[in-house]
Amino acid sequence: MTHLVNDPKKFAADVLAGFVRAHADRVMAVHGGAVRATETPQGEVALVLGGGSGHYPAFAGWIGEGMAHGAVCGNIFASPSASQAASVARAAHAGGGVLFGFGNYAGDVLQFSRAIEMLAKEGIEARILTVTDDIASSDTHAERRGIAGDLPVFKIAGAAAAQGWSLDDVERVTKHANDRTFTIGVAMSGCTLPGADAPLFEVAEGALAIGLGIHGEPGLSEVPLGSAQDVADDLVDRLLAAFPEDRGSRVAILVNGLGSTTYEEQFVVFARVAERFEAEGFTLVEPEVGEHVTSLDMAGLSVTATLLDDELEQLWRAPVDTPAFRRGSFASTTAAPPRRAALPAQVVAERSTGSEASQAAAATALGLLDDVVGVLKDHEAELGALDAVAGDGDHGQGMVLGVVGAADRGHEAVGAGVGLGTLLREVGEAWAESAGGTSGALWGAALVAAGERLGDTDAPTPGDIAEAVSSAVGAMKEMGKAELGDKTMMDAATPFAETLTEKVSAGEPLEDAWAAALQVASDAADATAELQAKKGRAKTHGDHSVGHADPGAISFVLVCRTFHSKES
Ligand code: ADP
Ligand code: MG
Repeated sequence: MTHLVNDPKKFAADVLAGFVRAHADRVMAVHGGAVRATETPQGEVALVLGGGSGHYPAFAGWIGEGMAHGAVCGNIFASPSASQAASVARAAHAGGGVLFGFGNYAGDVLQFSRAIEMLAKEGIEARILTVTDDIASSDTHAERRGIAGDLPVFKIAGAAAAQGWSLDDVERVTKHANDRTFTIGVAMSGCTLPGADAPLFEVAEGALAIGLGIHGEPGLSEVPLGSAQDVADDLVDRLLAAFPEDRGSRVAILVNGLGSTTYEEQFVVFARVAERFEAEGFTLVEPEVGEHVTSLDMAGLSVTATLLDDELEQLWRAPVDTPAFRRGSFASTTAAPPRRAALPAQVVAERSTGSEASQAAAATALGLLDDVVGVLKDHEAELGALDAVAGDGDHGQGMVLGVVGAADRGHEAVGAGVGLGTLLREVGEAWAESAGGTSGALWGAALVAAGERLGDTDAPTPGDIAEAVSSAVGAMKEMGKAELGDKTMMDAATPFAETLTEKVSAGEPLEDAWAAALQVASDAADATAELQAKKGRAKTHGDHSVGHADPGAISFVLVCRTFHSKES
């Protein structure tokens, strides 16, 4: 349980506000997260970490000399938006390019990739590096999700940046560190989102869930809870089995507490882990025991091993000085570091006025959007519960944050006299920005695409509306790359757009065409219950999801149904 909360929806922002106050000499808040409060040497690669909040010290706790230059802070467990990532990167950039580091989750990959495109237009070169250390999540290293391995991988990346390595070299060595990093975790209890009254998953009394996620994703299997030594042995056995043949003889070990497992228990487990690794012929190099990548109040821990070579060992041992992680010392920290100069301003898009007909259409569309706010709020808990079956439980929250942000921006834009096209574009940007997550990125891109198709001149005809829906769904497909049957919102969105186009082309009135499309989409959304998830966070837990419909498909139908009930 998270006991001390103001407004649960503002919890992540409240955390960040307190964090930057507590460490004002080292970090400062910017739109979307925080950056170093000190100057970065010109030309140094900027390491910008990120992901959702709820994992402190990851990621903002690692901002400082020898490690990160900035951290993007999304909502609790939800990936930040592309514009937040771009904003933090802009503020952290010191002329040497940007390396974005984050755990391998679909939403983060989508949003950070979009940020790279945005930054490229401004002449800032940015790349992404996804951490894939969780051996329980896949047999293929590159497809694993990222958990506590974030610490060694980003520590090594930050040291390379601090030593003046080029973007190419920092990227190469970070990737190499990730390839040599392996984690396995266990949970004794799930975590509870701030404001919620039940945990995202529960572990039976006397049981241990193996292969937990750090977003309240349940473990992949349960075994009886043994002694600390039994647990340590089990974890070490799984790690040894996952190592490549050229495992070397030097290793960085991290025992990471998830939030409510005591340090004492972590040390007890570590002692056995160390004994086992030494018996295997390894030398432990600067091991770490403590809370580094947490999952709110989850009880449990993980063991991470990074197999070192000379290059990785040098970087792992190098000094680091951040609010949450320190090692060695920097010669330069005798005087207080200088305050950073003014930060680059946010890029603000221009707003053009629409024709009278398009302004009227924008006002109608805004009314519909306001209705969607009500509908999604009514279904927030239900969508969250559906997402918690195999995902991370945040779909209801994400959709509500997205649509509320979109409607707020929509009212501003309509007040300024925009046409329908500009309204939808702005609303899409605001949705992605406010929601974060996979669905936020996809809904944002969809609305932007629809806006581009409709423009600000003419009142839309039924044919225009059908085409705009096709463009919107096309943008979702292009960004998410999901196929039909992968158990995503595309399973509802694709037949919806197809049916709508077909019926409108055949000359049916929009209202009837919409009703027919809605029926097809609703049946398709219900039918996702039979499918195994193949994309997004839920894919790791593919078989858990059978029997439950896909939350994104269900919410897609809810949104489209709101439009219909209003139109008729
Ligand atoms: P996150 O997965 O980042 O937590 P949400 O919980 O808000 O984001 O959204 C989850 C939904 O996103 C899923 O139910 C699914 O419908 C949709 N989704 C996930 N990955 C994809 C993808 N690659 N393409 C299309 N939709 C996807
Ligand atoms: Mg989710």
